[in-house]
Parts: sequence; structure tokens; C-alpha cells
Amino acid sequence: MGKITGFLEYERKTEPYKPVDQRIKNFREFTVPMKEKELKEQGARCMDCGIPFCHSGCPLGNLIPDFNDAVYRGKWEKAAEILHATNNFPEFTGRLCPAPCEEACVLGINEDPVSIENIEKNIVETAFKKGWIIAVPPQSRTGKKVAVIGSGPAGLAAAQQLNRAGHLVTVYERDEKPGGLLRYGIPDFKMEKHIIDRRLKVLEDEGIEFKCGIHVGKDISAEELKESFDALVLCGGATVRRNLPIEGSELKGVVQAMDFLAQNNRRVDGQKKFKEEIKATDKNVIVIGGGDTGSDCIGTSFRQGAKSVTNFEILNKPTTERPQDQPWPFWPMRLRTSSSHKEGAERFFSISTKKFVGDKDGNLKALITSEVEWIKQPGERPVLKEIEGTEKEWPCDLALLALGFTGSELTLADQLGLEVDPRTNIKASVKDYQSNVPGVFVAGDQRRGQSLIVWAISEGRQAAYHVDTFLMGSSSLPLKGEGDLPRI
Ligand SMILES: Cc1cc2nc3c(=O)[nH]c(=O)nc-3n(C[C@H](O)[C@H](O)[C@H](O)COP(=O)(O)OP(=O)(O)OC[C@H]3O[C@@H](n4cnc5c(N)ncnc54)[C@H](O)[C@@H]3O)c2cc1C
Ligand code: SF4
Repeated sequence: MGKITGFLEYERKTEPYKPVDQRIKNFREFTVPMKEKELKEQGARCMDCGIPFCHSGCPLGNLIPDFNDAVYRGKWEKAAEILHATNNFPEFTGRLCPAPCEEACVLGINEDPVSIENIEKNIVETAFKKGWIIAVPPQSRTGKKVAVIGSGPAGLAAAQQLNRAGHLVTVYERDEKPGGLLRYGIPDFKMEKHIIDRRLKVLEDEGIEFKCGIHVGKDISAEELKESFDALVLCGGATVRRNLPIEGSELKGVVQAMDFLAQNNRRVDGQKKFKEEIKATDKNVIVIGGGDTGSDCIGTSFRQGAKSVTNFEILNKPTTERPQDQPWPFWPMRLRTSSSHKEGAERFFSISTKKFVGDKDGNLKALITSEVEWIKQPGERPVLKEIEGTEKEWPCDLALLALGFTGSELTLADQLGLEVDPRTNIKASVKDYQSNVPGVFVAGDQRRGQSLIVWAISEGRQAAYHVDTFLMGSSSLPLKGEGDLPRI
């Protein structure tokens, strides 16, 4: 619970950022580490609130007051054990999680909440530095074989849990390296990729086999895999991108955000040649879409030396305060300003892109937009209405479409005869994460639709429990809310 009077004595503090002009010169992470004394004070702010709502705010059910208390007392190894009891990869969530736990923190009702995410990151980084995170292979093997398809956070979490249960786990990944969107979506300035490699080494040393560059459904059929393994866990993500089918969308310079981001991550990783270079250098860039992906496009464009970066969002500008109809401890839809937004992007809300304009060579040169308003009648969904006379032309050489994902690719569903839901996610209930085909399980974005890393890890862990139960009749793997024997 931290120090009884800690929240009265210390103000919230998180790792500061390097100045913008320095950090946009490269793709490195740019947070400045805090001193141990400061971190202990942040742990001390966790008060004896009685019912820690942060537990339920965290999709993993992280034991937050317990690790805060351990940090306050300087017991870092204990803190790392508590943290790893519920979270396989706190180094990912400690950097990238939007921290719904902090929105649910009791102190957050009338003060700044405890800086839980930052504490989490520092616990796991201390544990790596001290050499406490080592491979712990299972003591015995069950003889059962499981294939995990997809190596994003859901696949990695499922693989580690199933391996801990003693099964032989093979992870299939169509990309050249494991990590999913952690590696080829999220830019290095949010998480450098050696952070993934460091954890992958532990997983490999524990006995998990990674087969990269294999597209299941094409290079090897899903039925073939099903024949060779005792269970399959599909963790292929929600990879079908939303388009903007308006006039001019075929022009050179209208680019899907994921093509831009993935290419840049590969470039940072050393790849030199691409079929077609996509770069923001010296361009007027417009990012269409105000979410995480849009924000990552903004930061990447600045680092590539864009002339200007503008961001459009079709929704109204949210308030910075928690809206009244989204009370504590729920996750509120409020204006969020990322470190990338602060690097100089101009943001516009309630803007709809109507047309892309090209030059005679088929290159994008401008966008036409209109302002919109959302009309809401009681009990009905809001309807979009264009405001007459608000058309505007914006010079633009690169338009990045960051409009989200519509759902899962369906090749594997077709090959295995799996049911899908109306949003094209593969159907599997949270009761057991099993699809309509026995022995085929689904977790992460492929099951729940476009979501978050913390949810992907949580789903991977939950699915692993049910796979283990399916294979062995029962499981000693932890379910959410149960924790585990402290184990790094
Ligand atoms: C640009 C961007 C930024 C984001 N930023 C954040 C953030 O800051 N914080 C946050 O919490 N969330 C963020 N998200 C969301 C988060 O990355 C996802 O919710 C999460 O990665 C989902 O994990 P997953 O394991 O389900 O799928 P993914 O990470 O999508 O991994 C799926 C993997 O499966 C592989 N695969 C698919 N089909 C096959 C097949 N047939 N054969 C072999 N391999 C296959 C894919 O290549 C991929 O590697 C972001 C998303 C994007 C796009
Ligand atoms: S994983 Fe996310 S929600 Fe859970 S404790 Fe960490 S920052 Fe909070």
C-alpha cells in the first residue's frame, strides 16, 4: 500500500522526455530515467484505499498496490516477482499501455493518480539489469504439441504459458521476425526492438520454437498443421485495414499508415532496399485518423524530416476533463495528447476528407475536406452531417490513412471451417477461447478485434489455461485474478 501519508507528501511524477528538437533527430526512445528515490516516492503515493479499483481497471488484473508497496520499500526483486505473476511482458505494457488502471486509481478521484505504468516499466527494467529475468524451462514435458499462429503479444503470452505447462510449443510467424505489431507497427521511438529480442531470447531458452517467414494458410495449410499438433492457438491479429474509398484514393502519395510504419521500422532495423520507398522527407504530410496509429505516423513523419504534419479526426474534439456520463472508475473518452502530437503536429477535429487531388502525373498534390457535425437524437446513434460552405483545399504530398482495422483475415477460418462474428473476428467465447472446431483456440485481436497490447497478453494467458485444460483435463496455469506463484 505504499506510505500511509505518501499521497499527501509527494506529487505524481513520470519519466520526463528529452526536448523535441533532440528526440526527433533519431528513432530512439526518449524518456529520461528517474532516480531510485523518486521512484520509491511514486510507489509511496499508493494509499491504503481499501478496494484497489486499479486491479479491475487492468485487463491483466496486475497486483498493483502490492508491487507499489515493494517499490516504496526498495524490494525490487519482490516487486518483479509480483509483477510477473500476472504479466508475461511488463516491459511492453510499461512503455505502451494507455494505463486504464490509472483511470481507475482511487487517488485519481480528486488527485493525480499513482504513476502505475511508469513504476511497472522501472520494475521490469531493474529486473533485467540485475539479471533476475532468466529462462525457467518446465521441469517435465507432457508430450503434447501446440502450434501458435502469430507472434504478437497474444501469441507470445500464450506460447510462454503453454510452455510453462510442459507442452512443446511452436510459434509460426509470416513476418521475418517475431513480435507482431510490437515490431512492425509500433515505432522504435515508443519501444526499441531490442526490448522484444531480449524477451524472445528468454522464451527460446525456455524451449519455445519460432518458425518465421511461414504464412500459415499459404506456405502450409491450416488443416496440415491441425493434423500435426494437438491444439492450435490462432493469434493472427486484426490485420484488415479500413480504406477511404473516395475520389483520388488511387493516387501516388495516398498510403496506408501500416505500409508507412512497417517500412520505417524495417529501415530502422537495417533493411536498405524496398520495392517502393515511402518517405515523409520534405513533404506536406496529412495523417487521416486521430488514434494511436495516426499518432505514430506523426512522430515518424517528423523524424523523417517532413515539411509539415497535419492530423485530421472526423469525430468531435473531446474535452480534456472526464465526461459526466463516463464516471470514475471507467475508461473515459477524453482528449489525449501523445508525445508525437506535441512534436508540432496541427490537429483538426470534425473534419471529413472528401477528395484527393492529383497532378497530371498521378501524384497527390492536395486534399479537399469539409467540416462536419454529429447530430444525436435521444436513444439513437449520432449521424454525421456535412456543414455547407466549409470546403477547404489543403496542400499535401503524402496522405497517411490511419483509419483502423475492420477485422481478421479469413483464410484460416475458411480452411478450418471456423465461425466468424459480424465484425469478422473469429468466434470464440471468453468462457474457453475455443472456436467451433474442438482443439482450435483464438486469442488477441483476432478474437476481440482491434484492441490493446495489455488485452492481447491477457487473452493469450487466458487462452493458454483453456488449451491446457483441453489437453490435460485440468490446468494449474493461473487465470486472471488468481495470480501465480511468484515467477519471473
Ligand atoms: C501503429 C499501431 C500502434 C499501436 N500502438 C499501441 C500502443 O501504443 N499501445 C497498445 O496497447 N496498443 C497499441 N496498438 C494495438 C496493439 O498493437 C494490438 O492490439 C496488439 O499488438 C494485438 O496483439 P495480437 O497478438 O493479437 O496481434 P498482432 O500484434 O497483430 O500480431 C499478429 C501476428 O500474427 C501474424 N500472422 C497473421 N496471420 C498469420 C498467418 N496466417 N500465418 C503466420 N502469421 C500470421 C502477423 O504477421 C502478426 O505478426 C497499436 C496498433 C497499431 C497498428
Ligand atoms: S498493464 Fe496497463 S493497465 Fe495493467 S497495470 Fe500496467 S499500465 Fe496499468
